[in-house]
Order: sequence, then C-alpha cells, then structure tokens
Amino acid sequence: RIRQEVIPANEIGVTFADIGALDETKESLQELVMLPLRRPDLFKGGLLKPCRGILLFGPPGTGKTMLAKAIANEAGASFINVSMSTITSKWFGEDEKNVRALFTLAAKVSPTIVFVDEVDSMLGQRTRSGEHEAMRKIKNEFMMHWDGLLTKPGERILVLAATNRPFDLDEAIIRRFERRIMVGLPSTESREMILRTLLAKEKVENLEFKELAAMTEGYTGSDLKNLCITAAYRPVRELIQQERLKDMKHKDAEGKTSEGTSETKEE
Ligand code: ATP
Repeated sequence: RIRQEVIPANEIGVTFADIGALDETKESLQELVMLPLRRPDLFKGGLLKPCRGILLFGPPGTGKTMLAKAIANEAGASFINVSMSTITSKWFGEDEKNVRALFTLAAKVSPTIVFVDEVDSMLGQRTRSGEHEAMRKIKNEFMMHWDGLLTKPGERILVLAATNRPFDLDEAIIRRFERRIMVGLPSTESREMILRTLLAKEKVENLEFKELAAMTEGYTGSDLKNLCITAAYRPVRELIQQERLKDMKHKDAEGKTSEGTSETKEE
C-alpha cells in the first residue's frame, strides 16, 4: 500500500519552470536538497552533516507541494507523499509497521524525498498529550527512523514537510527541521510572474499582466490558477451558447418547414 504512494522521479511531471516566482526558495531548496541526495560521498568525513529535514510553511495554496515535487524531480529522486489522511485512511490499524515500511521503501527507491503534507496533524503537539495512542506511536516510530538517517550519511533520503500551522508543531519536531522556509503570499511582482507562468502555453492577447497582478492582492498561486481557469472557461461557455442557439434556430427552421409540408399534404 505504501508502494502506491511512490512516484518515480521520471513520473513526477512538475518542474521548477512550472512554478512562477519563488526564486529564492527554489535556490535554497536546490542547495539543500541536491547535495545530500546526489553527492552523499561529500558528507562522509563526519564534520559536515547532510540536511535531513526541511520544513516549508505558509498559507494554503502557495505552492509548497509543487516545490517539493519539483525539487524531487530536479534531484532525480523518488517522491513519497505521506499525509495524515494517507495514514488514517490507508494504514489504519498497522500504523507503526507502516512507518517502518515507509523508510525501508524510501531506502530501496532512493534517492528519495519523503514529503509529509499537513505535518502538524501527523507530528503536532496534540499527539504528545496522548490524544490518541496510535498517533503517539506513529510519531515516535517516525522520529526514530528520521533520527536514524543522521547516523547514515550515505543514505539518500530527506524529509520535506509542509504545514499551514507551524505553531502547532512541537519543539522536538521543529528542531529536527534544520531549515524552515516560509512560503508566503506572493507580492505584486510575484503574482505577475505566476500569471505569466500559468498562461505561458495559452493563447492570450493584450493581457495586461501588471494590471491583473495589481488587482489580485492577497491571491495565492492557487487562487491565481483558479482565476485563469475561470477566465479560460468564458470563451468556451460563449461558444457552447452560440452553438446551442444555432442548433435551436436550426430546429426551429426545420419545424417550420415540416409544418409547411404537412399543411401542403392536407391541402
Ligand atoms: P496546501 O497547503 O493547501 O497543500 P500548497 O502550498 O501545497 O497548498 P500547492 O498544492 O503546491 O500549494 O498549490 C496548489 C496549486 O496552485 C498548484 O497545483 C498550482 O497549480 C498552483 N500554484 C500555487 N503556487 C504556484 C506558483 N507559484 N506557480 C504556479 N502555480 C502555482
């Protein structure tokens, strides 16, 4: 079942070119992820430790999942997506065993990025207060394997996590993320770049990107994508309406002709 969550690098399909703006974030990720996954030999001395945990935090829809997939793709790494919903819906009842299996599989298909979406719900503070025994066990098992990576510099596995609620993470977890990168709401310039990226392959004429970016204050990348999809539907809807109208006129005309014919027959 965990195997189903693995996306091989050549099937990820998201690249940095698909992500508008976020240049600094892309650069940091490249620096942090590439070496541990591609050149573990550089870390064998002992003093220099490869990065094993990166946290991406920020509002929903700002491109965190996309970034994680794109960096895995760039690094030629397999991508394993684990979220709380995966664990509860698919792994229920055998959670700890599955966490172990997850790390075994990650090693088998390495280099690997283990992406933990909604990390706050899986490894957050609530589990410490014993909200749910099964969750506490998952968390401990996860941390144990994660820590194990630190003692194996040759292992090409990295945990990348995302959250919209960084304050819900407990200290022990926060500490394990050597780097925490904020992915915030895009600025006006960033919105322009995102819009240009989203519409790069579309036929658009005379679009005032700057104006549109100025009008969309507070929009996330995901909101901008939805805006583009809605806009792209408009001509499609108009076309369908025109076709329907034409069809109705045609039927109307046909109806009149057949009425005319029957009248002729009666005559
Ligand atoms: P959540 O916290 O809800 O999981 P997220 O931060 O992981 O959100 P994504 O799932 O990566 O956000 O983004 C949602 C969608 O929004 C993406 O599939 C993509 O289509 C679009 N999107 C977001 N940011 C960008 C961007 N910078 N450039 C292009 N598309 C973007």
